[in-house]
Amino acid sequence: MSITEAMLRVRERIENACARSGRSGEEIRLCAVSKFHGAPAVEEAYDAGQRLFGENRVQEASGKFAELKKTRPDIQVHLIGGLQRNKAKAALGLFDCIQSVDRESLIDELGKLTLASGVERTILLEMRTAEVSKSGFLDADALCRAAEKALAHPCLVLSGLMTMAPFTDDENAIRRAFKTLVAARNALEARFPGHWHCLSMGMSNDFEIAIEEGATLVRIGSAIFGERNV
Ligand SMILES: *Cc1c(COP(=O)(O)O)cnc(C)c1O
Repeated sequence: MSITEAMLRVRERIENACARSGRSGEEIRLCAVSKFHGAPAVEEAYDAGQRLFGENRVQEASGKFAELKKTRPDIQVHLIGGLQRNKAKAALGLFDCIQSVDRESLIDELGKLTLASGVERTILLEMRTAEVSKSGFLDADALCRAAEKALAHPCLVLSGLMTMAPFTDDENAIRRAFKTLVAARNALEARFPGHWHCLSMGMSNDFEIAIEEGATLVRIGSAIFGERNV
């Protein structure tokens, strides 16, 4: 299947999951995760109408997207993988949103750098909703502290939460992880209203469940670009 066909198929599955759960397809942003795939794959997806991409490494994304963005300024790219402090500045120069903010020290670093450059950046806070995942804030209390910190930085635009469900065939375990994120969002919305529009959850193997549970952004790699050839 070509990337164009695969994108059509994924969009159709998103629409079907929305219809099943009484939602509108317009509520869902599709982030095409292009990690380990080269610029030609991104170009094909772009030509098929895709504008939002996800990458999990700063260095790999810089090589690919710095050039692509020159000729296609409406491309957006989000960082979805762990960010080391020494790459924070480069990340802010390239990514439109950093979804994977997983510790308070990183919030301060990003806050300081955005203030110095005067350029606002959107961030999401990552929550660890399953034991298997290594990164993310552990519970609603930790997220509350992180939110308080993020909101104190004038150039950070806090827009929601992101999580990864466990890699398992156990649908209940996956659903539980997504429900945990939704519960945290509701607690945060009560405390800090208006900053939680984006719920980034769902990947190739579980995005339909994520949509049923309330995702507003799904991150899909292999179902669009094929298996990664690492
Ligand atoms: C790789 C990755 C994805 C996409 O994974 P697929 O299973 O290929 O859809 C989504 N989110 C994160 C954080 C990733 O690292």
